[in-house]
Amino acid sequence: MSRWIVPLADVVVSEDDIAAVADVYRSGWLSMGPQTEALEREFAQYAGARHALAVANGTAGLHLVCAAAGLGPGDEVVVPSMTFVATVNAIAYTGATPVFADVRGLTEPWLVPDTVEAVATARARAIMAMAYGGHPGETAALARLASERGLALLEDAAHAAGSRVAGRHLGTFGLAGAFSFFSNKNLAIGEGGMVITDDDSVAARMRLMRSHGMTTLTWDRHRGHASDYDVVAVGFNYRIDEPRAALARRRLARLDADNARRAELDARYRELLGETSGLTLALAPTPGARSAHHLFTVVLDVGIERAAFRQALAARGVQTSVHYPPAHRLTAHARAVDLPITEAYGERAVTLPLFATMTTGQQDAVVDAVRAAVSPARAVTGARSPGT
Ligand SMILES: *Cc1c(COP(=O)(O)O)cnc(C)c1O
Repeated sequence: MSRWIVPLADVVVSEDDIAAVADVYRSGWLSMGPQTEALEREFAQYAGARHALAVANGTAGLHLVCAAAGLGPGDEVVVPSMTFVATVNAIAYTGATPVFADVRGLTEPWLVPDTVEAVATARARAIMAMAYGGHPGETAALARLASERGLALLEDAAHAAGSRVAGRHLGTFGLAGAFSFFSNKNLAIGEGGMVITDDDSVAARMRLMRSHGMTTLTWDRHRGHASDYDVVAVGFNYRIDEPRAALARRRLARLDADNARRAELDARYRELLGETSGLTLALAPTPGARSAHHLFTVVLDVGIERAAFRQALAARGVQTSVHYPPAHRLTAHARAVDLPITEAYGERAVTLPLFATMTTGQQDAVVDAVRAAVSPARAVTGARSPGT
C-alpha cells in the first residue's frame, strides 16, 4: 500500500467499524437520518455545545460558519496566514476580505491579541482563529478581544477535536466552530465535518444553508413529520450521509483514548528529541489545556536545509510534511504583507509522523532518522551560501 515505514498519519478502520457501516447500507436509508441525528447529539454533548450539525466536510462547515455570521462584501476578517487554505477560502466565499495576521512565535504558530490588533481596521467584522495542531493557543484571549471590540470570533477547529482549555472544548469560545473529519484528522472518516454553536439563530441559519435553504428535510418528510417545504435562502448541499455518520460515531467514542495516545507520543518525542541540535520543538503543551495533538512539528535552525532534511527522512521511510505554506504566498490569496514569523515558520517547520496507532518502534525510527538527518542537512547548506 505505502512505501513508508512510518507514514505521516494512518487510519485504522476496525472490523467492528466496517460492520457498523455495513448495517447502515443494509438499513435502506443512506442520506441524513438517525445516524446523523445521533452523531450530532453525541458530538454536542461531547463538546458541551448547544447545537452540533454534521456536514459534508470541514470546509463546508467553515463556509456555513462564515455565512451564518453574516459576513459579506466590505467586511474584513482577521485570519492567520499560517493555516490550511480552506480557512481563507471559506471567508472569501462570502465576499468578505481575509486580512492576514502574524502568529505569536516560531514555536507558537497561532494568532494572539497583539497580532490581531496590528491588522484589524474599522472594517473588521470577525476574527477567524485556527487551533494549530490542536493546540488551544490563546483562543480564550482572542474571545475576550473579540467581545471588547464587537467582533465575532469564529473558530477553525479542524485540528481540535478533543482540545479543551480548563475543561471547555475548542469551538465553543466563539460564535461558532468547525471541525474536519478528513482522513488525516484525529476523528477520521474520509470526508466529513461538524459545526457547533451555542447560538440558536446561528444554528438555525447553518441548518437552513446546509440543505438548499429548505425549511424541511427529506428525513422529516420520510417520517411524515412534514409534507412540503419552502426555500427561504440560497443554500447549499453540505450534508453528510448515514454511513459516514455511523463511522464518525464509533470514532468519537474512542477519540479521547486516541488523543491520549497522541499525547503520550508527543511527550515521548519531546523526551527523545529535546536536546537535538539543529532544531527546536514547537507546540509545547500548555498547563491547563488539553490538546488533540493533531500535529508534531519541529523548526529547523537557520542553516539546516529543509529539503535535504526531509529527503534524508524519506530515504529511511519516514514521511514528513509542511503545515503550511503561508496562505499569503499562494497565488489565489497573494498579498504583499509583512508577516515575518509566519514566513520563517513556513520556511523552517517540518511536521513529523504522529497518529494514535503509531508504535514506539515506529517513533524510534523517526527519532533515529531525525538525528541522522540534521548533520547532513547542515553540510548541504554549508556548501552553499549560509543563512539563506
Ligand atoms: C483539514 C482542514 C480544513 C478543511 O477540512 P476538510 O474536511 O478537508 O474540508 C480546514 N482548516 C484546517 C486548518 C484544516 O486542517
